[in-house]
Amino acid sequence: MSRNSPRPKDAKERILVGIPVSAGIAIGPVFGAAEPPALVTRHEIAAGDVATETGRFDAAVAQSRKQLTKLRARLAVLPEDSQGEIAPLLDAYLQMLGPSRLLRGVKSRIAEKLRSAEAAVMAETDALATAFLALPVDPEDRLGQQRRAEEVREIGRRLVRNLTRAPFRSFAGLPDGAVLVCENVRPADAALLDPSRVAGVATDEGGSDGHTAILLRALGLPAVLGVAGLSQAALVGHSVIIDGSAGTVAIDPTPATLAAARKKVTAFARELQRLAKYRRLESVTSDGKAVELQANLEIPAELPMIAQSGCTGIGLLRSEFMFMNRETLPSEAEQTETYRGVVEAMGGDPVTIRVLDWGAEKEIEALVTAGIVPEVGDQNPALGLRGIRLLLRETALFETQLAAILRAAAAGPVRVLLPMVTSLAEVKAAREVYERVARRLRRRGEKLPDLLPPMGIMIETPGAALSADALALEADFFAIGTNDLSMYTLAVDRGESDVAHLYDPLHPAVLRLVQFATEAALRVRMPVSVCGEMAGNPKLTSLLLGLGLRSFSMNASAVPRVKQAVRGLSGDDCTRFARLVMDQTDPARIREMILGDTAAPARAVRAPRSPST
Ligand code: PEP
Ligand code: MG
Repeated sequence: MSRNSPRPKDAKERILVGIPVSAGIAIGPVFGAAEPPALVTRHEIAAGDVATETGRFDAAVAQSRKQLTKLRARLAVLPEDSQGEIAPLLDAYLQMLGPSRLLRGVKSRIAEKLRSAEAAVMAETDALATAFLALPVDPEDRLGQQRRAEEVREIGRRLVRNLTRAPFRSFAGLPDGAVLVCENVRPADAALLDPSRVAGVATDEGGSDGHTAILLRALGLPAVLGVAGLSQAALVGHSVIIDGSAGTVAIDPTPATLAAARKKVTAFARELQRLAKYRRLESVTSDGKAVELQANLEIPAELPMIAQSGCTGIGLLRSEFMFMNRETLPSEAEQTETYRGVVEAMGGDPVTIRVLDWGAEKEIEALVTAGIVPEVGDQNPALGLRGIRLLLRETALFETQLAAILRAAAAGPVRVLLPMVTSLAEVKAAREVYERVARRLRRRGEKLPDLLPPMGIMIETPGAALSADALALEADFFAIGTNDLSMYTLAVDRGESDVAHLYDPLHPAVLRLVQFATEAALRVRMPVSVCGEMAGNPKLTSLLLGLGLRSFSMNASAVPRVKQAVRGLSGDDCTRFARLVMDQTDPARIREMILGDTAAPARAVRAPRSPST
């Protein structure tokens, strides 16, 4: 069904609800990205590899069961009739992954025909599907028969994807204007989406501040994540409307829903036009306090949007995205070119380059290929060898990146930012490597300034926040990463839909850590900024200003809105408001004061509001 084709008569509108992740409305046909089968390149194995291959297959079965069990558990939030449609399908998949003919058949192909696990899965599911279709059935059962055959093929594709660890999705066949609907989009996959071709994204999994969400916001793609039951309910052939502000997905919308969505598209475009005037206005509070607004950059494709945003520099360049979706690691020369390109594009405004923050949900295949990290990661990657920990162990990787940053610094002001710092010793060790790299470059004849570009640290772990006074003596600046700070403080995975309701950057524990770190920096007059997603939410600007913060780095599209908020606020009002907020111990009360998202009592304290909002 194309975008313009008429709605089938029997289509029934269903509205599913998820997490609003990236504003805007997308209307289009579903592109079910599970469709293309993963590529199988390895077919035969040696006789001695049978046990290993069977082990790989068992692991893929276990992983597939885990994925499906999770989808099944989340169906409870759906209306009963939707549950009734989707649950039997997931049960059928799960049954095939129990003791079944499929599993026995795959294992015997591995052991007897010496096929690789993925080749055995493809051959066995193909044979089973063909056998189903050959069974004689009444004509009215024909459709059910075809469905069973397709279920077997789908389970085969899932097993192969898990075996090959191939990116879950291939976007090659994505038709222009389609809406991407699937279980999960990894950050590396999101980086491959072309916003001029994709209308929007909706997934079953994901959280509001995971890296996939951050990428989708950066690309300006309307997106709703964490929509239970979605990928089973919205299939190819359906059309959908995604409302990235309300967090809804309408499947097979009625003409009335469609008309309302079209109105919202127009209103959204008008609002963007209205905000465009802030690009040229100063970022200053109504009582004259200057506030620095910078942009976060994940992929160079964002540069034009950043140039349009009215920001004054890049407060966080997430360099890990330049290491993704490639087979080899970028060389010093290649990295130098990339960083230099960004620095030149910023025309004299500073660029803060964060060194590689590998780990947690950010998978980088080139690091596996280079033998730097194992193929099978830690049980608990968010607490593993993430960020600076990996770089201090793999100093060659660190030195290459630092050399490239130092060379790019000849083109304009840069700053170096260290991720996932938890101790003073890490900052000292990183600085030693930095100075060693600078000495080596000077010996090579590179011209470097006597005073090296500042080296700052992310404050994104409770450990760093609580040692901020000590870290302030060694670091040149702080960038407060409220995404990870919230995740590690509350022990809630920021990209996990099951616990998304517990992820709360406004929890008093998180706010107290932000306050503690900010005050530690201000006491020694050291620059401090916020570069987590909190910075880009204009509703939080009064609180952050009230805590004494004057520098924020955010998704480029948020800059005009935050500037509008800044210009309507008075610094003194913000200070008073922050004091009241910081006296609170109940997260719900804080949300009410700041977001006003529960019915406020008559004497409620309200956040100071910009007259223009
Ligand atoms: C953060 O953790 O807040 C942050 C800005 O870093 P990232 O989102 O890349 O982990
Ligand atoms: Mg972080």
